[in-house]
Amino acid sequence: MKFLIWALLAYLVYRMFAGKSAEKIVKKEPAAAETFQDPVCGVYIAEADAVVGRLEGKRYHFCSMECLRKFEEMQQRQ
Ligand SMILES: [Zn+2]
Repeated sequence: MKFLIWALLAYLVYRMFAGKSAEKIVKKEPAAAETFQDPVCGVYIAEADAVVGRLEGKRYHFCSMECLRKFEEMQQRQ
């Protein structure tokens, strides 16, 4: 019987921590569906505010022209 109580307690503690970490993951995600991550500085930008760059047929979203230029420089070096 004691074992059952301990098992239940362990389960409750596990649920508490599992719930908290799940909450953190949700908060990290961008709120709107139409957001993109800047590959240079890692900031999330809404489609409407983003500077869109094209490179080898792929679309990249940047927070500013400065990041777009940095990205192009990085690609040219490779
Ligand atoms: Zn940026």
